[in-house]
Amino acid sequence: MKTKIQLKESDMPTHWYNVMADMPNPPAPPLGLDGNPVGPDALAAIFPEALIMQEMSQERWISIPEEVRDILRLWRPSPLYRAHRLEQALKTPAKIYYKNESVSPAGSHKPNTAVAQAYYNKQAGIKRLTTETGAGQWGCSLALAGQMFGLEVRVFMVKVSYHQKPYRRSMMQTWGANVFASPTDITNSGRTILERDPESQGSLGIAISEAVEEAASREDTNYALGSVLNHVLLHQTVIGEEAKKQLEMVGDYPDMIFAPCGGGSNFGGIAFPFFADKAAGREIQLVAVEPTSCPTLTKGIYAYDFGDAIGLTPLLKMYTLGHDFVPPGIHAGGLRYHGDSALVSQLHYEGLVEALAVPQLETFEAGVLFARSEGIVPAPESTHAIAAAIREAKQCAKTGEPKTLLFNLSGHGHFDMSSYDRYFAGELQDYAYPEEAIQESLKHLPQVKFNQS
Ligand SMILES: *Cc1c(COP(=O)(O)O)cnc(C)c1O
Repeated sequence: MKTKIQLKESDMPTHWYNVMADMPNPPAPPLGLDGNPVGPDALAAIFPEALIMQEMSQERWISIPEEVRDILRLWRPSPLYRAHRLEQALKTPAKIYYKNESVSPAGSHKPNTAVAQAYYNKQAGIKRLTTETGAGQWGCSLALAGQMFGLEVRVFMVKVSYHQKPYRRSMMQTWGANVFASPTDITNSGRTILERDPESQGSLGIAISEAVEEAASREDTNYALGSVLNHVLLHQTVIGEEAKKQLEMVGDYPDMIFAPCGGGSNFGGIAFPFFADKAAGREIQLVAVEPTSCPTLTKGIYAYDFGDAIGLTPLLKMYTLGHDFVPPGIHAGGLRYHGDSALVSQLHYEGLVEALAVPQLETFEAGVLFARSEGIVPAPESTHAIAAAIREAKQCAKTGEPKTLLFNLSGHGHFDMSSYDRYFAGELQDYAYPEEAIQESLKHLPQVKFNQS
């Protein structure tokens, strides 16, 4: 019985898969406050043309530049594992597979897009990239990628994480990045927040405002986003493409796929290449797993909203909890975003992908069981997918159904051990679904109508 299913370097995907080609309806376009679709020109202040083209492309396959593949080869193809020992621990007839994206230098799936984004910015003559980071996973990934292509990287790190995760900051600095605790007093957005709340611990939305503001105000500087946007999900599809080939090697195909969902990038990355089969009539369930404390897909509404807290970005049609919603301080920092990818949102709205919310304690319990059976200590974000797969495997144990389950191990938790400590000390709670805070934020949704001409 195989445990690790490995592809050769020469089997690494040569093209990204663009799900838009197979969606029954494309997602609604980004809008300006006037209700008109935002054209490529408006995005050109902060993104290179190649990425703007990818953002809008309807082409099914988009080729991966050789320079990008050269760097991805440092850790790709990533291994697919059969979780024999977890299956035994659960006494389940289900087959559980996981794709291990924790093998990248930064420890998560995020470098898959960071490398591509740094490459296209370098090609466009850009010298500096700004970005935000929550738990530090994305900041590390962009710092690594910027270093590979000789770009200066400036990271606005959510203040609470800046203090809670000092080693993520050191890691970014090791890869040459400049890191600031957000809200800062070096941008108008940061100063505005600090005036309202001098003790603000920051949020992803606020940090995005700061990074976008800096990028928009300088010719030599662009902005890079680690999730949500179509081109980011596109770059992550190498995960699902590889997983499909690896499952073929052992003659298997998943009944269900689970991935943690913050902005939707690793979920889209593993699920979309299988969506192509679903669109062609094959039965498969694609499940995005989120925290009950930031339940965007399961409790949000599908509406136009800003991508950031201040309202600097174009309006995106997505499931949202309101752009000024600040979730409770849960430990899965990468899942604290108020919105979601437009692609994932549209597919969820049409019932083509599913969503499930899992409470914090169940996710840590799943993470510990996984670590004790499979060995890898998972990132708190990844434990959401593990918990959902475990729920399903337990269900299979009851019904006797031998389902094939696949989940994405989006990252390892080596920099998240303080969260595990708090779990073991009994200090973590299941935050109640913050209904009032969500209702309050939803009152502040921008009132725009899409001028469909
Ligand atoms: C950022 C992150 C996530 C969530 O982001 P998505 O864009 O939804 O993938 C999940 N897992 C890990 C390890 C992360 O770093």
